[in-house]
Amino acid sequence: MKAAIISDVHGNLPALEAVLSAIDGERVDELWCLGDLVGYNADPEACTLAVIERSQICLAGNHDLVVNGSIDLSVFAHDAAVAARWSQKALSAHALELLQALSPEGEREGVDLYHASPRDHVWEYVIDNRTAQACLKLLRHDLCLIGHSHVPLRYRPGPDMLAVGGYSEPGELELGDGRWILNPGSVGQPRDGDPRAAYLVLDLDARTATWRRVDYDIARAQRAIVEAGLPETLAWRLGEGR
Ligand code: ZN
Repeated sequence: MKAAIISDVHGNLPALEAVLSAIDGERVDELWCLGDLVGYNADPEACTLAVIERSQICLAGNHDLVVNGSIDLSVFAHDAAVAARWSQKALSAHALELLQALSPEGEREGVDLYHASPRDHVWEYVIDNRTAQACLKLLRHDLCLIGHSHVPLRYRPGPDMLAVGGYSEPGELELGDGRWILNPGSVGQPRDGDPRAAYLVLDLDARTATWRRVDYDIARAQRAIVEAGLPETLAWRLGEGR
């Protein structure tokens, strides 16, 4: 069983198209999405429809929950709030209904799936070793996939208070029979300084995880942001991977 894992697409259609076409060449059995289909970028409708149609499981992220009305928009800072309000208007009733049906946590093939973390499915950032260690204790299964931070990451239990791991360069990791929390990174708004779109291939038979990066037409995504009247900082940060 081989699955491609994507997260944090955030309405970036050029990035999503590049990732889906790369995944077509991977010969995977399934596609799993860890949430945040919308927000920040200018194509929430196309991204929502494409991912929900193509994936076997898709979680809700915090942006999906704000845009679909489950969480009040006042929780967001400026750019995120502007983009969420814009997305609410841009989405069809059908796409909003699809977003309303999603949950921020799930399970597939014995793997725990959360948008943010096992402790707080919607908001917690697992980006440091102490938080990761606390979260590793809460797993229902050996493997857990999370998104939300937009950074490719891996953590396994450490000797005491601190998990071992951190940033994941592109490449393969042997999972052995250990416990892991893995983050594929973000398709639509990478924040690790590498502007290329990110995804992960999880091979449950070989017990490997492989982080991938793909080039996409960043200028096209930036133009779409500007033409939609969204904050220009959202276009700028795509080019920086921030
Ligand atoms: Zn996100």
